[in-house]
Amino acid sequence: MPAQNPRFSHQFKLNQSLDLLHGVGSRIVPKLQKLGLNTIEDALYHLPVRYEDRRQLKTINQLIDGHQEVFVGSVLASGETVTTRSRKRIYEIIVGDNTGKISLKWFRYRKPWLQKRFPVGQKAIFIGEIKRFAALREIHHPDSELLNSDQDIQQLLQSDPLSFGRILPIYALTEGLTQKQVRKIWNQLVQDYADYAPSFIPEDIQKKYQLMSISAALKQAHWPEDSANLYELEKGSDKARYSLVFDEFFYLELGLALKRAGVQLEEGIAFNFTHKYTVPLNKMLPFKLTDAQRRVLGEIKKDMMAPHPMHRLLQGDVGSGKTLVALMAALIAIENKAQVAVVAPTEILAEQHYQTFSQWMDKLGLQTGLLQGNMPVAAKRDILEQIAQGEIDLVVGTHAVLQEGVEFHRLGLGIVDEQHRFGVRQRSLLKHKGANPDMLVMTATPIPRTLSMTLYGDLSVSVIDQLPPGRKPVTTMRFSSVQREKAYQLIRQELQQGRQAYVVYPLVEESEKSDLQAATVAAETFAKDIFPEFNVGLLHGQMKTVDKDAVMNSFRQGKIQLLVSTTVIEVGVDIPNTTVMMVEHADRFGLSQLHQLRGRVGRGADKSYCLLIPSEHYSEDAARRLRVMVETEDGFRIAEADLEIRGPGDFLGTRQAGLPDFRIASLLKDIRILESARQEAFAYVQKTNQLTTEEAEPIKNELIRRWGGRLELAAIG
Ligand code: ADP
Ligand code: MG
Repeated sequence: MPAQNPRFSHQFKLNQSLDLLHGVGSRIVPKLQKLGLNTIEDALYHLPVRYEDRRQLKTINQLIDGHQEVFVGSVLASGETVTTRSRKRIYEIIVGDNTGKISLKWFRYRKPWLQKRFPVGQKAIFIGEIKRFAALREIHHPDSELLNSDQDIQQLLQSDPLSFGRILPIYALTEGLTQKQVRKIWNQLVQDYADYAPSFIPEDIQKKYQLMSISAALKQAHWPEDSANLYELEKGSDKARYSLVFDEFFYLELGLALKRAGVQLEEGIAFNFTHKYTVPLNKMLPFKLTDAQRRVLGEIKKDMMAPHPMHRLLQGDVGSGKTLVALMAALIAIENKAQVAVVAPTEILAEQHYQTFSQWMDKLGLQTGLLQGNMPVAAKRDILEQIAQGEIDLVVGTHAVLQEGVEFHRLGLGIVDEQHRFGVRQRSLLKHKGANPDMLVMTATPIPRTLSMTLYGDLSVSVIDQLPPGRKPVTTMRFSSVQREKAYQLIRQELQQGRQAYVVYPLVEESEKSDLQAATVAAETFAKDIFPEFNVGLLHGQMKTVDKDAVMNSFRQGKIQLLVSTTVIEVGVDIPNTTVMMVEHADRFGLSQLHQLRGRVGRGADKSYCLLIPSEHYSEDAARRLRVMVETEDGFRIAEADLEIRGPGDFLGTRQAGLPDFRIASLLKDIRILESARQEAFAYVQKTNQLTTEEAEPIKNELIRRWGGRLELAAIG
């Protein structure tokens, strides 16, 4: 082969499939694929899950409970016994050295084989996890290597250097693979290919953080040197892992920094303030904006005034008053003769927003429109026409707004409510309905700040960290299903005082039919048997839009007192007279969902209740979720607990949000590294004028190779 650009030949090596490796044939390949490993590169980044210290053989008195240990001993006794409690047969040998004794047990075994292998006096190396029962230590199903004399020990250790005399990597396996097998494969892999792994962190940053090259880090992570610090390795805080994580985060943040820079370079609309509508609205409002709302609005105004498009995330706990902030921003756009689109994830929420917005817009003499997926054709045509002509100032709708055929006269501001329900793609669809309109996305999911910087790295973040005054805390209680009478009593009390209540049932797709039935049957039971003196309504996603609207309107007007519903009311619904939220099968809901549901009450001046009724049987994780709900109302603490219980990938829905999965880095554990990497990456993008300098060339290429279209890096020229 002619001399090639080393970057490409290296890449070629890393992209090869794994059957190239010795000992990896058609039997092993599918097993590795099961672990998500297809190429040499995948395997290089498949790091050990933990390590085992086999640098020295231990003596029996040095063995540590709970650790996987390796030691030499002689068989003192050997034979089959019967356990006293369960009367099961076991094979047990007692092994000793001059420091102590330990018992080794087999529960499944072939007796003749064990008898022959471990006669009294036999010397061997034993390997296994030390368990302690009261004063006695034992190992179940140990591994062993027989020895004939003391000399054998040294020989054996030397003859199998992959298994003894070093710190051993332990890998995640799937069925049909053994550690020994995998050790061999990875040993060859690292020896032959780690050197091809590319390292493209700028030199000064490497120096500043004392980063190892990727090759050296991979070697060290797979096969730590004898001098390695085992404690650090186990905690994952060793230099090798640090370097690999830094590298991963650095490239992620480079992408985000470019994206942000791209946005800042785009030309947008520079709005002016005429106060034509905002001041009158302020005068009409029955309350004063909270300080937090005012501060956030200031941040938004500044963005809107700038000649670049706004990309701002508005984060505020449920009930913090995001809608009003959105309305004020909308009015600023409208004062500039631009149109506004508000997109909500459900029909019910879109309908509600339509009512809220149009109530104020009407008074200001402005036009509001509602666009739903399943509207009558003629009505839809009408609305579309009015939007295209610029007759409608503000349109509210579901996904329908994002569809082809919806054309604006002049879209100046796009607002996305409950952003966590949408992906990056939807946001971008909305943006492209105008010529670089300003974008405001709103979410109630309070994600820890660093995570939100990562997740929404191209957005600026504003936080409403204050609830409107006069909110009473919501009392949350958990009732077992036999205690449900007590819950009903509480509901009855509230209804008698003229308040309203929700009863929510879970609705999961797979079991949709039976869940739907549960809600339907419950509504009947409530109406007939439990609360015959009140009006009970039913609401679920399968109903026709008109029927849904009718039910919601009756409830809003107080004609229905108790609303049995599936989770369609989860987000955003705002009916302050409702003071009870009862959740059936509460164990089946996620934490943030429960928090959202609870956010439907406690919106008025009256004391509110959230009653959680779990199923008869539920998991330990579900129990933790319910405990968190009873203990706190603080959205931030709930988000953190959620993150802990679910793990970050799940929590963030990273895929949906357009973020890559990390190979090594953990958003939960490596937040500090993320912060450093982010700082450096943003500085580097600025310093190299968006990676356009010669020095930045290899880094830009590597960035494109890694993330390609996933970060929508179209802006890189
Ligand atoms: P969320 O942030 O969950 O979307 P909303 O915008 O629905 O919250 O607001 C919740 C309720 O609080 C609404 O009834 C709204 O009218 C009310 N509200 C908003 N801002 C204020 C305020 N500054 N003072 C009093 N009530 C307010
Ligand atoms: Mg809302």
